[in-house]
Amino acid sequence: MLLQNRAVFTLGLRMCSTHVTKGPLIDTARPSSDMSEFRKAFAQAKHIAIITGAGVSAESGVPTFRGENEKWRKWQSQDLATPEAFSRYPSRVWEFYHYRRELVLNKKPSAAHLAIAECEARLKKQGRSVVVITQCIDDLHRQAGSKHVLKIHGNLMETRCVSCGEVTVNRRSPICAALKGKGAPGPDVADAKISVDKLPRCDERDCHGLLRPNVVFFGETLDSHILTNVEKEMEICDLCLVVGTSSIVYPAAMFGPRVASRGVPVAEFNTNTTPKTEYFTYHFQGPCGTTLPAALAQHESEVF
Ligand SMILES: [Zn+2]
Repeated sequence: MLLQNRAVFTLGLRMCSTHVTKGPLIDTARPSSDMSEFRKAFAQAKHIAIITGAGVSAESGVPTFRGENEKWRKWQSQDLATPEAFSRYPSRVWEFYHYRRELVLNKKPSAAHLAIAECEARLKKQGRSVVVITQCIDDLHRQAGSKHVLKIHGNLMETRCVSCGEVTVNRRSPICAALKGKGAPGPDVADAKISVDKLPRCDERDCHGLLRPNVVFFGETLDSHILTNVEKEMEICDLCLVVGTSSIVYPAAMFGPRVASRGVPVAEFNTNTTPKTEYFTYHFQGPCGTTLPAALAQHESEVF
């Protein structure tokens, strides 16, 4: 099983999702939920990798559009966040991302975001490091103050030109005049059907190509430069936290199990068990805004 999954990691660098398999954990594989044991491992760790997913942003009120109850109009993100959807319905996909951008602009970091950022700053003074490897496309980790963040699924507040490839930070609200007031999520809202020349376009001289959100769509390959950095972090970390992710989107779902296969302690913080829980040393159930601040708080052994 592990070997098979490692193969998925090596070969499957395209983003894809699997169905959640729910079932009882096998007792022998049940990870510990002993916080004092986790705190001992935390106190000794020099390089901590924290893998975060949508659950962290959900506690800031950012919807994921992954469940039946979280649709945008008639669709979930897997229906719209694809190269095929963008090529056939660029206006609809831009309405969806415009809606998500506007939503995120009004959100504040959650208690989990803040605990991670505070931990990074505190441990840095002790010569220890914290890296955040996030699947979230919002910017809430940075807003909370995290410095070392690897955004493996891209950034909602960046655009990429489909013609010249230029990537630009873009926080305009609305991103273009034609999208003003568009993107309402209700199930009966009709598509705005904005003509492609009125959608966000490239500012580069003589280009004027169509822009797309600089995010990784389902079926697309992750940025190889970022993945190389992730690989490096997973090789050097001596403690790993997997926070607020259902561990069903690959290749990110394999990061934690891969670290665990080196014998490094891995702790999962999530509202539920996941298909990967059995691989981990610790599992702390509950909202990560509740569990994580206690886990990452200053340890009595910390010296400044
Ligand atoms: Zn361009």
